[in-house]
Amino acid sequence: MEYVRDLIIIGGGPAGFTAGIYAARAGLDAIVIEEGFGGGQAATSPWMENYPGFEGIGGMDLMMKMKAHAEKNLQVETGSRVEYIRKEGDVFHVNAGARGYSAHAIIFATGAGYKKLGVPGEAKFLGSGVSYCATCDGMFFRGKRVAVIGGGNSGATEALHLKHVGADVTLVHRRDTLRAEKILQDQLISEGVKLLLNMDTKEIIGEGAVTGIKFFNRVSKQEETHEFAGVFISVGVEPNTALATSLGAELDSEGFIKTDRQMRTSQRMIYAAGDVTGGLRQVITACAGGAVAAMSAYEDVRTPYWA
Ligand code: NAP
Repeated sequence: MEYVRDLIIIGGGPAGFTAGIYAARAGLDAIVIEEGFGGGQAATSPWMENYPGFEGIGGMDLMMKMKAHAEKNLQVETGSRVEYIRKEGDVFHVNAGARGYSAHAIIFATGAGYKKLGVPGEAKFLGSGVSYCATCDGMFFRGKRVAVIGGGNSGATEALHLKHVGADVTLVHRRDTLRAEKILQDQLISEGVKLLLNMDTKEIIGEGAVTGIKFFNRVSKQEETHEFAGVFISVGVEPNTALATSLGAELDSEGFIKTDRQMRTSQRMIYAAGDVTGGLRQVITACAGGAVAAMSAYEDVRTPYWA
């Protein structure tokens, strides 16, 4: 006979691990299914200084602590990509590789991927100078000129990390003021990160590997080419919503999964938490969402309000 769990949590980042810990401790028979190694985008953050309890910690370090904590409480299935989900009666059937899992409730903690710039050369030079992750690839650029594109908190954090590994870093932004918080802007200046403002990136150029970027200067209204050996793109995120929408979960106007304050989606027994739901997109808010989603799932599995 088919084994039906109470809850399947899809995604092993801050939201998924926290949901797993709360669900298991509440007594739900739950599992976390994660396509990679676990940790999500947070694991690629070079350094965090705003997760309470840790004045400073690497993203990977923090996420491996969360993963180990989750694994003490429930099964965390890594390296298992969920391909599709179908609902039959009140049971969800989840297909991940060669394996199948069934449950009465699902939490989507599927996170977000890197938004692309969409300029010529971006895809062509991916892995040959173009990267979306300074923690992963920064070491290859020690002593080299690199550009970080994007003026948000991620761009600033990536730029600082690249500076720390010994690259010559220029942060490129399309407007004249950065979006990043003040403390990060102050660090950029004190650490000697150069700023190139009012620049639209038009093309990433190279021969075999990146050699530079063609910009349109919004002030002079002229095209300019600057030499770089590496281009780190940090222009925001795109939520991974396809599985949730395949089950009818509604999205909000910005394309994130819509939830109520209890992290219930528009579909019964389907919940969402973390970056896939938008909002502040911080590790701490992802964890909070995961905890709330798990407790809502617990309430609905054990004592449904509609029964
Ligand atoms: P973000 O805050 O949305 O910033 C994206 C940046 O990329 C913006 O400066 C934006 O320019 C620029 N951009 C977007 N599309 C572009 C394009 N096509 N061409 C050129 N530039 C483009 O995204 P994020 O920095 O990835 O941060 C995501 C979330 O994680 C945020 O909520 C952030 O606060 C959080 N986060 C926090 C920390 C921290 O607390 N230390 C660290 C990392 C991330 P405009 O400014 O002109 O829109």
